[in-house]
Parts: sequence; C-alpha cells; structure tokens
Amino acid sequence: MYGQTEWAGLIRDVPDFPRPGILFKDITPMLANAAAFAAATGALAEPWRDAGVQAVLGIESRGFILGAALARALKSGFVPVRKPGKLPGSVLTVEYGLEYGKDTLQLRADAVAPGTRVLIVDDVLASGGTLHAALSLARQQGCDVLGAAVLIELQSLGGRGRWQADLPLTATLRFP
Ligand code: AMP
Repeated sequence: MYGQTEWAGLIRDVPDFPRPGILFKDITPMLANAAAFAAATGALAEPWRDAGVQAVLGIESRGFILGAALARALKSGFVPVRKPGKLPGSVLTVEYGLEYGKDTLQLRADAVAPGTRVLIVDDVLASGGTLHAALSLARQQGCDVLGAAVLIELQSLGGRGRWQADLPLTATLRFP
C-alpha cells in the first residue's frame, strides 16, 4: 500500500517559480511514479465515489492529467476547460482577474449537455479565481455542478473564500 506520506513526498516545492515570491507545487515527480500517481488519484476520487458524477470538467493543463484519471476512477466522462483559442466551434468564455492582469477560460458549448452532473477538478487551489471561472462556465452551460476537487489547497491564499460556500470543495492535501 502506497500511503499519502509517500506520494505527497514526491510533490516538489520550487521556490520563485514561475515568478519571484511563488512557491510552485510541482506534481510531475509524483505523476512519474506509477504507485504514487495511482494512490494520489485514488485519494482525489475517494470523496466523490458515490456522488453520481457524470462528467469531470478538468482545467488546462494539470487539471487534464488529474481529471482524466479521476474520470476513469469515477467511471464518468471528461470535458476539457481550456485556455483561449484552443477549442473549435462555438465556445463559452469567462475572463477572470489575476494578481496582475487577466486570464480567460473556455468551454465548448456542445461538450456537455445542460443538466449533466459535473465535478470540476484542478491540481492546485491558490487564490480561487481559476476554479470560480470554471464554475461560471459550467453554470452558463446549465450543468448541475456537484462541487470541485483539488489535489492541493494553499490555505493562506484564501481560495476557498471565493468558492460558493454551499457547494462541496474537497482538497486531498492542505498546506496552511
Ligand atoms: P488560482 O486561480 O489563484 O487559485 O490558481 C490556481 C491555478 O494556478 C491552478 O490551475 C494551478 O495549476 C496554478 N497555481 C497557482 N498557484 C500555484 C502553485 N503555487 N503551484 C502550482 N500551481 C499553482
């Protein structure tokens, strides 16, 4: 059995990346280890096993990796939420504020039917802007959003406060 101590120990802290002052949580050493990847995605899926998730909405790009594995664990579909200009056809768009400037996420309008029970997933919850933007897109599309799952919550950045309080938000690892 590969426990949390083992797989969490493979997430590397990279100081001052991609900008000075950011402590970047690099999950790639954990992903590269078969037992760690399986245990981490199993733990991510655990709170959602009986939730009736029909589609996982994964946020580009590390949310694709975890989200696809999560979708397999939950036997659900997978829908990508992408950076602008990547999706063909008719798309829904949300712009959201970052510490400096703005960012944009898009969802293909026909990727998921209104009323679908969806779970939003990303690797890290920091300020919460990204997860909130994905929630807005899912709502615009008329999805039934069950909640969100992140592997890592950086509590000091207050992202949970930007999430809708009455919707579950599960975090497998929390850092103060
Ligand atoms: P936020 O919108 O501030 O909650 O930022 C979350 C998004 O930025 C996620 O898609 C993460 O992949 C990325 N991110 C933010 N902070 C970090 C960090 N310290 N380490 C790794 N990824 C991060």
